Amino acid sequence: MTKKLWLAAPLLLAQMLPAQAQSSEFNLICSAQAAWCNMLAVTFEKSQGVKVNMTLKGSGEAIAQILAERANPKTDVWFGGTGDPHLQAAEQNLTLAYKSPSLPQLHDWAQKQAAQSGYKTVGIYSGPLGFGYNTELLAKKKLAVPKTWADLLKPEYKGEIQSANPASSGTAYTMIATLVQLMGEEQAFEYLKKLHGNIGAYTRSGTGPIKAVARGEATVSISFVHDGPGEKAHGFPLETITPADGTGAEIGSMSIIKGARNLDAAKKFYEWALTPAAQALGAATLQFQLPSNKETKVDPRVPDFRKIKMIDYDYAKYGQTAERRRLILRWEKDVNSLP
Ligand code: PLP
Repeated sequence: MTKKLWLAAPLLLAQMLPAQAQSSEFNLICSAQAAWCNMLAVTFEKSQGVKVNMTLKGSGEAIAQILAERANPKTDVWFGGTGDPHLQAAEQNLTLAYKSPSLPQLHDWAQKQAAQSGYKTVGIYSGPLGFGYNTELLAKKKLAVPKTWADLLKPEYKGEIQSANPASSGTAYTMIATLVQLMGEEQAFEYLKKLHGNIGAYTRSGTGPIKAVARGEATVSISFVHDGPGEKAHGFPLETITPADGTGAEIGSMSIIKGARNLDAAKKFYEWALTPAAQALGAATLQFQLPSNKETKVDPRVPDFRKIKMIDYDYAKYGQTAERRRLILRWEKDVNSLP
């Protein structure tokens, strides 16, 4: 071997070997509806050849797990769930800064979610908060459709309403933050105390109440209204409405966990989840959030934000760790402790 070739040999060898073994699997926490999560996992596995080990967790439970794993992360990607706890995870340095080349393809609200987290999360969908109601039960009980937040306090709805618990559910935290922004904090907590008297049950996950209403186990739910058309398509007598006095919306988000052990697979999934083809799997499983990629086909059943009175939800403020903790603790102390 000539001297020149001898010197080049290690370089040639390095080029022939992969820089790092590619992960053939990764660990995902999915905080969207189970049907969508399962479809995402199966389609990604089949099309990309990477195994997905998936756990389903509500948004509040997901951040609690990621925090508990902080010293030794087992999760690689957290997909879905409301954006506030994703922003909280970013603030607590639990998630990795990653600027996707697909960002310019996303709606402004999704890009803003990424920018204000220092690119530690990104918006993948959005959907407004409102009420679900069972048309047959309302008629049977001779109850009117609730049209405003104030309507839910009427004595005739006593025991008829389901909401989720804000400690475990991002949906319920979105409700508290929305009411605080709509009414001011003191009035919002007075409202929540009165509402408590009409709540039949608080569920762990935000998806529970609308399912209970669809199946006739409760009459009215406080839910994301994009969950309604799917229940209706299953044949349940369910309709949704957004409060005429104004409401908030979630920016469902996705984050890569800091210290992810399967980072290459995590990034592969993250990029894939931002494509129009992957985002269309939401509507394919009867989930009607507004997708963040501007090129994703929008199903006509996706709620039309232009027809809804939306508040200008302050995601940066209500995604702060201190604010989220404080409001949830106040709810536990002032509201959930009431009989
Ligand atoms: N299901 C749907 C349809 C959602 O849009 C969201 C929020 O992103 C969730 C579930 C999250 O559920 P939870 O309120 O239990 O955090």
